[in-house]
Amino acid sequence: MKSVLLSNPGKIQISEAEVPIRKDDEVLLKVRSAGICGSDIGAYKGVNPLVTYPRIIGHEIAGEVLEVPENETELLPGDRVLIEPYVYCGHCYPCSIGHTNCCENLTVRGVHIEGGMAEYVSHPRKLVHKVPDNIPWNLVPMAEPLVISMHAIQQADTQSGQHVVITGAGQIGLLAAQYAITIGAIPIVVDPVDERLALARTLGVTHTVNPVTTDSVAEIKRITHDRMAEVVIEASGDARAIRNAIDYVSYAGHISLVGWPKSDIPLPTGLFTKKELTIRGSRNSVGQFPESLRLISEGKVDVAALLTKTVSMEDTPATVADIAEHPDRYLKVTCLF
Ligand SMILES: [Zn+2]
Ligand SMILES: [Zn+2]
Repeated sequence: MKSVLLSNPGKIQISEAEVPIRKDDEVLLKVRSAGICGSDIGAYKGVNPLVTYPRIIGHEIAGEVLEVPENETELLPGDRVLIEPYVYCGHCYPCSIGHTNCCENLTVRGVHIEGGMAEYVSHPRKLVHKVPDNIPWNLVPMAEPLVISMHAIQQADTQSGQHVVITGAGQIGLLAAQYAITIGAIPIVVDPVDERLALARTLGVTHTVNPVTTDSVAEIKRITHDRMAEVVIEASGDARAIRNAIDYVSYAGHISLVGWPKSDIPLPTGLFTKKELTIRGSRNSVGQFPESLRLISEGKVDVAALLTKTVSMEDTPATVADIAEHPDRYLKVTCLF
């Protein structure tokens, strides 16, 4: 079968690979679409330490069911599905308490194990989700970044009516803003790129702040009537944004850190105590795929607005290279196979 192979950092091409052999508890899929994610770009650039090479990339993978386990009662060949790419062990401490998203032995498709940018993929049945008929193939993979955003909002215990500052208006931040609206919270999107803020406003975000051209702390103070934001979702990984999150958040507020910082960041930890902050990491997701697909299907979250373009499998290697070189030109790219 054809696959999108990273033979080494910086070297990506279409390559022949063996069709995977389905294990007893797995579903074999004919892949129909895939999303190019920041982690695929990190793998291409060689900056993701978890990736080993050669590696077929891709973890946002949708397709048609070809073969199901013998005892399967729900899925049928021909069904449209999306894979949940975080394959957990089921017996470590985090798995034992239901936090399978941060399993100590987590293997993510396209990172630790072969990805799904290929003609076929075989994946554990329990991590395969049926897709509503009305979501076009090229948008289905975007349910994966949406679960990341939903988890970040939930990790911060976000409540209806609360102000939620979201730092970073990339796909995760813009999806988090839309999800916040669906639960009745009020997003305030903070990003230094005005076009991204304009896009946020077209998605229903009423408050946007450029931290370079305005005093972002004063602006958030004004919007929140002096309280500051009950919740901050840090979705950029940028050192200044992470530092600013502690000023943007209210006393007794919650911060959820979903962006990956490039290095360690010194923080005024005295303020954690003074404001009695709850600061939580947020990684992957648990059990949120059905809800994510429902929100897209019902038009509650507009993923199409974030799509820069959709490319063919043949054009995927060149597109990955171009995104790595010109990240500002792209928000989200999906591939149709
Ligand atoms: Zn992703
Ligand atoms: Zn585990």
